[in-house]
This record gives sequence, C-alpha cells and structure tokens, in this order.
Amino acid sequence: MTGQELAATGDGAPLRIAILGSTGSVGQQTLEVIAARPERFSIVGLGARGGQPELLNEQIRRYKPLLVAIEDEAATAAITFPHDRIVAGVTGLETLATLAEADLVVVATSGHVAIRPTLAAIAAGKELALANKETIVCAGEIVTAAARKHGITIRPIDSEHSALWQSLQGSAGIAAVRRLLITGSGGPFRGHSATELAGVTSQSALRHPTWPIMGGKITIDSASLMNKGLEVIEAHWLFDLPFDQIEVLIHPQSIVHSLVEYVDGAVIAQLGLPDMRLPIAYALNYPERPPLPFPRLDLLQSGPLTFEAPDLARFPCLRLAYAAGRTGGLHPTILSAADEEAVAAFLRGDLPFTGIPAVIEATLAAYSGTMTVSLEAIEATDRWARARARELVRRTTSR
Ligand code: MG
Repeated sequence: MTGQELAATGDGAPLRIAILGSTGSVGQQTLEVIAARPERFSIVGLGARGGQPELLNEQIRRYKPLLVAIEDEAATAAITFPHDRIVAGVTGLETLATLAEADLVVVATSGHVAIRPTLAAIAAGKELALANKETIVCAGEIVTAAARKHGITIRPIDSEHSALWQSLQGSAGIAAVRRLLITGSGGPFRGHSATELAGVTSQSALRHPTWPIMGGKITIDSASLMNKGLEVIEAHWLFDLPFDQIEVLIHPQSIVHSLVEYVDGAVIAQLGLPDMRLPIAYALNYPERPPLPFPRLDLLQSGPLTFEAPDLARFPCLRLAYAAGRTGGLHPTILSAADEEAVAAFLRGDLPFTGIPAVIEATLAAYSGTMTVSLEAIEATDRWARARARELVRRTTSR
C-alpha cells in the first residue's frame, strides 16, 4: 500500500490537503469539515484569489500551511506569512496543486483559472476533490482523459454530482445505468410567467429558496437553470454517459440531491439537508463514511417532497446548455463565458433577466472558430466569447 492508500483507509498519518480557493464559500466549508476531524486531516497548502486578506490571514494562523498561493500577485503584500513561502499567479496555484507534501487537492476556486492547476494536480498523481465547474464544463474532455491516464478518481464536490457518485457506489457499472436524474430547486422564479420573468431584479434573484450560502453568480445561474445545464455537461464527462441519458428534475425542497435509474428499473438516490458540508465530507473521507457533527435530515420534518419537469420555454438556458454540450468542442466554453458576462450585466442592472439566454444564444451563433479542444483554444475562445457577449450587452443597453 502507498502512503496515500494507508491514509485513505484510516491506518496512517492524516491526509494532507491543499485547498485552492480557501476563502470562497466551498473553501470555508471545506475547512469546517477538516476542523471536525483534526486527527484525520492536515492542511499543507492554502490558495486564494487574494481579495479577502483578513480571512486568509486568519486561516493561515489557524491551519499553519507550508505554502500559500495568491492568484492576484498584488494582494500578496497584505498576507501575513513568510514571503518566500508565498507563490503567486496561476503558476503559483499550479505550484500549490503539485505540492510534494499534499496527498489531496481541493479545487474550490471559481472560473477557468482552475483548469491548469487541476491538470497539474492530476499529472502529479494527487487525489482530486473538485468543486470548480469550468474545469469540467470547458475542459471535461482533457481533464477526464488525464485522470484516466493517471488513474485518478475525480471526487465531485457539487451536491448533485456527489449524489450521483454516491448512488453509483457498489453498482454493476455505468453500463447498468439507464439514466441520471439531476435535481434542482428550480430557483426563486420557478412559478413565474414569461412576463414576470422579464421584470425580475437582481435583488429578487439573489434570494435562493433552499441553499443558504451561495455566491451571486451561482444564485443567478440557479434562477435561470443555467446551473443545471452546466451540471448536465459535467455529469456527461464525469460519468461518461450520453446527453440523452441525463435528465433534469425540478425538486423545490432540495432534499433528494440526484438519482440514478438502473436498467432493471431500480432508482437509487442520495438524500440529505441542503448543506454543502455533506458532499465535501464525502469527497474528503472517501471511501470512508465517518460520523459528522452537522444537522441531519428528518423526513418527518421535511414535509412533502415534490418533483416536476423543467420548463424549457420559460428557462431557455437549460436548452442552450444541452445544445452546447451535444455540439461539444468549444461550445461549452462559449456558453460558460457568455453566461458569466450576461449574469454580470444583469447584476449591474444592464440586462433584463430574459436577456441572459438571448446574449448566450447570440454569442454561440456568432462563433465560427475551431472545434478542437485544447487549453490554448479554451482560453482564446473564452476571451472571444466574453468580448462578443459584452458587445451584445452594450447593444441591448443602448437600444
Ligand atoms: Mg449543484
């Protein structure tokens, strides 16, 4: 057994963890999970964008990492840590992701800045717990091929993919799966008419009905169902199934986190409170399932669980995501980049909610470049799509 395997079975030293994105919502909750089992985990590296130096300094004091990575080089001055043990920029994140002392790397940064460090971690043979969407949406083809080559299991942290992963344990393999059912709350505008949707504000969209701690972008993506669309694309790559075997089910209570239907008709689901610490803990402790000190699901208290089909006419983002996923190539990158620009414009008040899918669709339609996925092509196409989407937003605003 290697040291890593020993640690994973609970016989050896603590599992040594590096976190990219430690000051974000998932990063902070990862540290809570780690703090709940101090004998099992140790922090060897912390990485952050650098926008919250006080929080990062507090994490450094508490967890005493060996190395700190700051994405924004200018922010390093505010970090209380020996400067010869601070690395900066995307290359700094890569250094952190390949740190010799790390057994497992948690990728919790947002944006496609995470792709290179993720690939570096895989190439270095690190165990990988992945919360970053862009890595799989844009580079799923490259990242999953690299993981296969290096024998790495990508441990998904997103609640839906964690639920699918958990529901696939002990199964007869992916060939026995008839379909994956990804659940989503439907967001704050689930029952809204098309007219109501045209008039919603960013304030009302930012009130997510069931998940307590989420960032602005993901909350808007949840309201537009783009978040589900991106999750469908991720599931396609993570579980190696065609798009017509991946479906979305609206489940407003967010208790059933996703389901796997097998060819024999059996459906296996994972249920739990909407609490990211559960999927994070599963990813960190895998294949163990230790007791956790967090609130637990009581089905007698949760009330009725309901399910409905998503309305693709009122929420076209989901349809656009399926189409981009099926087309493949650089289309998911364009989808993701245009969405980010459109959501930012909506949050600024420069674009109506219904303008988000319009901008994404027009950006996708304008693309005529390469369809061969490479890191360079992803980065170049991302820049092109953002510029194009911003231009489309400007035209909308000036009308
Ligand atoms: Mg999710």
